[in-house]
Amino acid sequence: MTNEANSEGNKEKESKNFIEQIIDEHLKNGRFNKVHTRFPPEPNGYLHIGHAKSICLNFGLAEKYNGKCNLRFDDTNPSKEETEYVESIKEDVKWLGFQWDGEYYASDYFQQLYDWALQLIKDGKAYVCECSQETISQNRTTPTREGIACEHRNRSAEENLDLFQRMKAGEFPDGSMVLRAKIDLNSPNMHMRDPIMYRIMRAHHHRTGDDWLIYPMYDYAHGESDSIEGITHSVCTLEFEVHRPLYEWFVQNLNIHAPQQIEFARLNINYTVMSKRKLLQLVNEKHVSGWDDPRMPTISGLRRRGYTPESIHLFADKVGIAKRENVIDMGLLEFCVREDLNKKADRRMAVLDPVKLIITNYPEGQTEMIEAVNNHEDESKGKRMIPFSRELYIERGDFMEEPSKKYHRMYPGNEVRFRYAYFITCTGCKKNEEGEIIEIYGEYDPASKGGNSPDGRKIKGTIHWVSAEHAYPFETRLYDRLFSVENPDDAEEGKTFLDYLNPESLTTIIAYGEPSLKDTEAGYSCQFERMGYFIKDKDSSGEKSIFNRTTGLRDSWAKEQNK
Ligand code: ATP
Ligand code: MG
Repeated sequence: MTNEANSEGNKEKESKNFIEQIIDEHLKNGRFNKVHTRFPPEPNGYLHIGHAKSICLNFGLAEKYNGKCNLRFDDTNPSKEETEYVESIKEDVKWLGFQWDGEYYASDYFQQLYDWALQLIKDGKAYVCECSQETISQNRTTPTREGIACEHRNRSAEENLDLFQRMKAGEFPDGSMVLRAKIDLNSPNMHMRDPIMYRIMRAHHHRTGDDWLIYPMYDYAHGESDSIEGITHSVCTLEFEVHRPLYEWFVQNLNIHAPQQIEFARLNINYTVMSKRKLLQLVNEKHVSGWDDPRMPTISGLRRRGYTPESIHLFADKVGIAKRENVIDMGLLEFCVREDLNKKADRRMAVLDPVKLIITNYPEGQTEMIEAVNNHEDESKGKRMIPFSRELYIERGDFMEEPSKKYHRMYPGNEVRFRYAYFITCTGCKKNEEGEIIEIYGEYDPASKGGNSPDGRKIKGTIHWVSAEHAYPFETRLYDRLFSVENPDDAEEGKTFLDYLNPESLTTIIAYGEPSLKDTEAGYSCQFERMGYFIKDKDSSGEKSIFNRTTGLRDSWAKEQNK
């Protein structure tokens, strides 16, 4: 190996995350000869950005190692699961650009899991327990004290087999007994103190219907499902670290293929909540319009907000894989979408808070077409023509009767460049009785056509505009953070996360855009020059357009906070 190749090799090693390092070791020492991961959502809600992180990780590992990644629905808890969620999850994974190798359901393994439970019973490693939930947890005592065995722990295998089969047959009421693994009542790890494997639950399952009256617990089902599918690396979030001995105990005692569970820190983002239970509550109590409300941290919400798959991949990369929990700033997510859209998005002009400007020296009734560039970052996007006339709309904020320091936009006596069009010098304004500015006046310099200086004179301010007569009005939804505090999960006593909802998370206005915005489809995404990135919403119909603000151009939020 040459020196150069060697240093390349080292560089590659350095940039590997800890999971990749573990995998490399396994491939080297022969523990595994391939990589097979899975993404295992429970279909009890829509996926959020935390799941996106896990998707990028699991599918990304499979891609990197030329391996496979399954999509497995962890549907062992029928009371909360629905087919609608299964469909939305598939849509979201596909939208992120991934194709799973196999689509599986833990419920497909119910018979196998049951047969394995019988085997553990026969081996004296599981027993039917009739204690109440409270008694079970009381008998487990605390990690530093010995646990207490109940009278059911020493039943014979025959008796356990009989009872378990009758649990399945429906002879006992819900909650009257459970099947427990017989492991170690003195383990310092409470998960090993005879964990529950099965419960009786008369619930309709979205796939198996009413076939089963007993359902396996997550800990019993998960490792075995991984094993059945030949998963090599079972990546999950940190809270499962303490479950790992149990995961290993089941596959060892059943003597089946043993995947390696690896834990990483879950993604947390400020100004939002990420638990599906809380997201469901926001939807059910109508604090948001649905799972795909553009303020939601769900993948479908982000998509509707104007996020691209690439922006989410970039975000997942930047966040990286950590072993310790931390909180990522929402600003990073916004940064990533700006990075991506800056390269891709058309530029358009739209005025969000209009005030009329009259160019007193421009011929009345005249309209001329002005050439505008679609995207300065990408010349292949070409140009378009936009109408210009005597009366324009400009942003209210682009005029000040008495300018503050360093204000370079419209004020009496100041000359400003109107993007792509002309230089216009402000000559004054008109106010109504309340003192509100209702019209601004200016004079244009015909020699500055195209927005270029005719004589080299310098112009400091450039503003956007639309021709009033030709303007296309449309609804615009300006979104802000859903919560007004960094950590809504951390509620004060007597409050819940709902008490921290940001009352100004949605403002609806009518904006005035250049005419080309009319002929766009839902999903059309562009930059309104100087104002931010916007996407046409699916609620648009016919002539009526609705645009959602994806994000502003700069981090105005942080500035607001520091005022
Ligand atoms: P929640 O707590 O939000 O309800 P969950 O962990 O119960 O989420 P699952 O459907 O069980 O949701 O998760 C599927 C996969 O996504 C799991 O492997 C889980 O570890 C991972 N995952 C869930 N939330 C996050 C997160 N915030 N960051 C990274 N991975 C996550
Ligand atoms: Mg879960």
